[in-house]
Amino acid sequence: MARYIGPACRLCRAEQRKMFLKGDRCKSDKCPINRKRPAPGKGPKARTNKMSEYGLELREKQKVKRTYGLMERQFHNYFEKALRMPGITGENLLMMLERRLDNVVYRMRFATSRAQARQIVTHGHITVNGKRVNIPSYQVRPNDVIAVHETSKKLIVIKDALKEFSKSGVASWIEVDPDTETGKFLAVPRRNEITELADIKEQLIVELYSK
Ligand code: ZN
Repeated sequence: MARYIGPACRLCRAEQRKMFLKGDRCKSDKCPINRKRPAPGKGPKARTNKMSEYGLELREKQKVKRTYGLMERQFHNYFEKALRMPGITGENLLMMLERRLDNVVYRMRFATSRAQARQIVTHGHITVNGKRVNIPSYQVRPNDVIAVHETSKKLIVIKDALKEFSKSGVASWIEVDPDTETGKFLAVPRRNEITELADIKEQLIVELYSK
């Protein structure tokens, strides 16, 4: 599956928010958000036209798409599925993204970024309910047990990533035992629990794709 492999923090500049696409880089002074650098094409000499409705919707879609490291076709497929599900389309979309195995591995602190989590999954280092699963888009269900495979438990990248667990813990819908490198996806989070996306107006994405 294709994915964006350009400089991670350039996308922070584009979206004017910390995207956390490259582990701890966004927490350091290297992230342009800390240096208040404007978005590309938004310097002091830029035109100051108010962004169009379409522009706002597009920015919102790009933020979410890039946060989860997806390409357009894949992201659009999630929208099509979300549309057919009962409930609020925008929330359905975010919940499917949250349930991706690479995202859950990232949330469990087995990786410092979603990009790294995807690699850990594709390389076969992760099991779901005891079985090896190497598909990043695998949809995790409540009570699924996600673990680092027995033969991968000594991996330094994972041990290093887990140091973040002792510093800041995990999200409320996730449980992790860093010693056994095992976690449980307790429940699909409610929309307001996903604080990372607190500033996102997913309705704008729905409007964009509904045109
Ligand atoms: Zn950054």
